[in-house]
Amino acid sequence: MAENNKGAMVKGAGLHCPSALSIGLVLIGTFAGAANAAQTIIHAGRLIDVTNESVLTEQSIVIDGDRVQRLETGYISAPGAEIIDLRSATVMPGWLDMHVHIGSEQGPNRQVEAFTRDPADHAYRSVAYAERTLMAGFTTVRDLGTRSGLAQSLRDAIAQGWVVGPRIYTAGKGLASSGGHGDPSNGRSQALTWDPGADEGVVNSEADAYKAVRIRYKEGSDLIKITATGGVLSQAKSGQNPQFTVAEIAAIVAAAEDYGYKVAAHAHGAEGMRRAVVGGVASIEHGTYMSDEVMRLMKKNGTYYVPTIIAGKFVAEKAEIPGYFSELVRPKAAAIGPLIQDTFTRAYESGVPIAFGTDTGVSAHGDNWKEFGYMIEAGMPAMAAIVSATVSAADLLGESEDLGSIEPGKLADIIAVPGDPLADPEEFGRVHFVMKGGQVFKGGAE
Ligand SMILES: [Zn+2]
Repeated sequence: MAENNKGAMVKGAGLHCPSALSIGLVLIGTFAGAANAAQTIIHAGRLIDVTNESVLTEQSIVIDGDRVQRLETGYISAPGAEIIDLRSATVMPGWLDMHVHIGSEQGPNRQVEAFTRDPADHAYRSVAYAERTLMAGFTTVRDLGTRSGLAQSLRDAIAQGWVVGPRIYTAGKGLASSGGHGDPSNGRSQALTWDPGADEGVVNSEADAYKAVRIRYKEGSDLIKITATGGVLSQAKSGQNPQFTVAEIAAIVAAAEDYGYKVAAHAHGAEGMRRAVVGGVASIEHGTYMSDEVMRLMKKNGTYYVPTIIAGKFVAEKAEIPGYFSELVRPKAAAIGPLIQDTFTRAYESGVPIAFGTDTGVSAHGDNWKEFGYMIEAGMPAMAAIVSATVSAADLLGESEDLGSIEPGKLADIIAVPGDPLADPEEFGRVHFVMKGGQVFKGGAE
């Protein structure tokens, strides 16, 4: 896919979005638009070279249209070029978050809202979520579960310049088995429940697997998400039991391959995780009870681990507030939440490939950056954490040709923070410059 996400036309976004922020965008957009005839040159005081894991100083990044044309040492200029002065900042590629839910955000009234909110209510909120995400420095996200076609429409609206937000790659509705994590009929009374099928993302056979993947294709999804084990926030008892057979997962993966899709697998328990890795998925999400055997298999198969530590912290904290979760969910949140950060330490130390992901939508949109601090706290050097959110995430997405580093020919997705994120994890929360596809959305000429 990706035609939809390329060449985003941004000037229109300012015209249709009446926030104070977008007034700035109109001005910046016009300025950048004029300079597009020539070039934009960023003067970067410190530039994080994620490919070589080093920091370069006094660099010029020459941007032509939506792509990086070249890098030069020293501060250069060119006739007609717009200069963006980031000489006192640390510049790096825009971050990629491999696990968000762009159409929702967790709150204490979640069960009731399933009955009171319409798709349009979610859609209007998602516009704000998308803008917060981009302004936090995340220029690309992988949406792992949003209903009603919302994420596909939001993706296209962003690419067409109607809405300000990150590039979105979406799984659409995730695939679950009956009663499993992601069955939309879970937790309903007998009068209100029903038996969802492949169109609603519920799969109970290899034939269902093909149909469910083909429906995601028809809906314009970019990848497939499965829930290989129970999960924390579903109205169901187990947070970790296996919920697909290897044959079902292998059928989903085979069907996905027919459409050029990768498969992401939510998994907490070790057996369901093992089945997902054996079945051929591209990534394990959360990975709470990851066993040594699973780690070995993931390294052998090149399966990525997407940790989502922040989601674990969030649900563990909320489990202590009486009434925040239902009595089915609360014990799962209390048990699983605190374990993910330790799993991350074990997986990192054993050499499992790691791609940055937060499960944002559980925690608040725009807080995605806090995951960096949790990764660093758990033993990963800050540079490696940045690599996981750039080079590795782009690789997991299958978009390394266009995304993940500031190199000639790649899309100009570039962000900056004022200080040194390698020394101070709080810097990840201070993004003051955001460029996506050569267009400035935050900061710029000073
Ligand atoms: Zn999720």
